[in-house]
Amino acid sequence: MKTRPVRGTHDIFGENIIKLNSIREIVSKNANIHFYKEINTPIFELTDLFQKPLGEQSDVVLKEMYTFKDRNDENLTLRPEYTTPMIRAAITNNLLNELPLKVYGIGPMFRRERPQKGRYRQFNQINFEIFGSDDYFADVELICIANDVLKNILPDCKIELNINSLGTKKNLLNFKEALSEYFINNKKLLSEESKNKIYNNPLRILDSKNDQDIEIAKNSPSINEFISREAKEHYENVKNSLSSININYTENKNLVRGLDYYCNTVFEFKTNELGSQDTLLGGGRYDGLIDLLGGPDIPGIGWAAGIERISMLMKSNLIKNNEIHLAILDKKFKSQLLKLIQCLKDSQIPYFWNYKYNLKKSLSKANSVKAKKIIIIGEEEYKGNYYTIKNLENSHQDKIKIEEIGKYINDKS
Ligand code: AMP
Repeated sequence: MKTRPVRGTHDIFGENIIKLNSIREIVSKNANIHFYKEINTPIFELTDLFQKPLGEQSDVVLKEMYTFKDRNDENLTLRPEYTTPMIRAAITNNLLNELPLKVYGIGPMFRRERPQKGRYRQFNQINFEIFGSDDYFADVELICIANDVLKNILPDCKIELNINSLGTKKNLLNFKEALSEYFINNKKLLSEESKNKIYNNPLRILDSKNDQDIEIAKNSPSINEFISREAKEHYENVKNSLSSININYTENKNLVRGLDYYCNTVFEFKTNELGSQDTLLGGGRYDGLIDLLGGPDIPGIGWAAGIERISMLMKSNLIKNNEIHLAILDKKFKSQLLKLIQCLKDSQIPYFWNYKYNLKKSLSKANSVKAKKIIIIGEEEYKGNYYTIKNLENSHQDKIKIEEIGKYINDKS
């Protein structure tokens, strides 16, 4: 049997684990400042949770969900996104009694997409959500956190914020009808893929990457013609606030997002350093969604960012070889070894021993990972009750008493 991973999945180790942990740290720091509480939900849910809310005609529901029946014939789905599970968790655990509720989560999502650079079938997302506020300040706060998180993780990367307003649910409905009518009249010129979206998902034709579709979309009705005064005011307030805190943005009228539940403010952070999978983070308002899922009729807004795409832009060479290597030349020095490890542990000094009683092998391992120091316990050290510490960069050696070892290493590093 030849073992292989599932297509579109990947193992995270080495430098990528260091990146993942550093992303987690930055995310939780930003979450704490703005008082978001972490939620961790199961990776699978009842299929109903996703089907209608995400949109029965959305790409995710039509083509990408990992759905299966369990032994009781219950329809289950590996979560393709985090907003609906978070809302489900808030409802199930009565967390919506006190509003607003501000939550965040980090974890794996699953979509059966065509794997390519930056697009996987299991990938990790960061999610931030606010339930229970329709104040434009909530939009600004979330965009600001997104901006801070990305800037903290990728200080040198050029990232552009795109925003748009889709108007209220009702505005959006009227807009969709007008779009369908326009595209019906121009059906012959559309790509095959877009033709299939005319009736059920005309918004998605607006963000098609096909040149012909782009040309036709240029003269399509604009949301501006349908957006209510309140929705316009909300949007203007968001934009003015972002400008006042020096967050630059580009308005993009074709920014519609892929899922049905969005309305009002939508936004994406993009980079041109990643090729075609260029969106790092996307989000927006989803007023009406919590109600649809059986919760109270309260508004909501959130965003999701892709950890793998962010990781790809992070600097490499993060692995620090700051561990001390140990060379134990004979089994009879085990009690010295145990004392030494105790001492290193107390001084918080990372160490590595290869479980071999062989100086050559231990040195060769230390050199292969470019370790800076090695501690040697041999016959002389044993008799003299000291350790030899060798600096592998300049071959300098010192004899150190056990009680001085922590201080010696910390002083020299
Ligand atoms: P979405 O929920 O589609 O708006 O995605 C939010 C973010 O998750 C995107 O901007 C990407 O960074 C990331 N993402 C979405 N789908 C994938 C995927 N298949 N593989 C890797 N990252 C993804």
